Amino acid sequence: MAKILDGKSIAAKIKEELKEEIFRWKEKGISPCLAVLMAGDDPASVYYAKAKQKVCENLGMEYRFLHFPASTKEEDILKKIEELNLDSLVHGVMVELPLPSHLDSKKITAAIHPEKDVDGVHPLNKGYILSGDKGLYPATPQSCIEILLRSGVEISGKHVVIVGRGETVGKPLVFMILRHNATVTICHSKTADLSYFTRLADILIVAVGKPKLIKVGMVKPGAIIVDAGINETDQGMCGDVDFEEVKAVAEMISPVPGGVGSLTTTLLLKNVLKGLEIQQGRITNIYNREVR
Ligand code: NAP
Repeated sequence: MAKILDGKSIAAKIKEELKEEIFRWKEKGISPCLAVLMAGDDPASVYYAKAKQKVCENLGMEYRFLHFPASTKEEDILKKIEELNLDSLVHGVMVELPLPSHLDSKKITAAIHPEKDVDGVHPLNKGYILSGDKGLYPATPQSCIEILLRSGVEISGKHVVIVGRGETVGKPLVFMILRHNATVTICHSKTADLSYFTRLADILIVAVGKPKLIKVGMVKPGAIIVDAGINETDQGMCGDVDFEEVKAVAEMISPVPGGVGSLTTTLLLKNVLKGLEIQQGRITNIYNREVR
């Protein structure tokens, strides 16, 4: 029976580290602050925005929630982002997606100053994922890597198969895990014979959004399975991996809920502190723009 990759307990440990770090910043007179913008009332976005607020409160991080009506004009959101970019009391800025359809989410997220882009969606930060320079990287692929490393899994030299090439998880993960010296294969909806590739994986990471897509016959016995999928079904929340089946043959497996998703908010807040270090010049100002 597989060992469970326990995202909740790993998140609890990282939260303790963040609490201490936030305390140290406050002793120096700086109160780390995250600002979250949202337009409209998408239920999942409301849920995620509230979850961030709760974790911020627990850790002692300042939280600003800027909630716009669905009918808000793009220029008003861009103006607010520019204000937050210039506000020295705000260290991380993110926009809850999806936005209402009349708003250009690419234009809006690209307006966030890259040093405050805690979601890692600014084109410059996306570029740094490729080049391997220090930047702000998206939290979910970081969660997939962190859950492995903090569970004592050696990534170097392993064949990592990633299923899903989405902009938020799969695609950035390819380059992030490559830096850990994995041999990487990426699969997607057009992959012919998906099981052929998934069965080759020492570490299988799935980020698709299809409930229980990965069945026991698609997994090599002794493989390590990381499930980033989140699916709401009539039977409740489940991942992209058939957990009950696959745990019988895997060496390790992350559950849904309680796995990757448990780490994401925590790592987003870790990015606020990393952004703050960049803004304070403790990490080289890689953005070649004046630090505010
Ligand atoms: P996405 O952008 O829709 O990407 C889904 C990917 O899955 C695409 O690359 C797609 O291939 C591929 N795919 C679809 N059907 C497939 C199939 N039958 N076989 C193989 N590949 C298939 O989704 P995403 O934003 O990356 O999110 C993926 C999952 O992660 C979702 O369940 C989402 O809820 C979850 N998620 C979790 C967190 C967290 O905190 N844990 C955060 C973000 C997302 P094509 O490119 O060919 O279309």
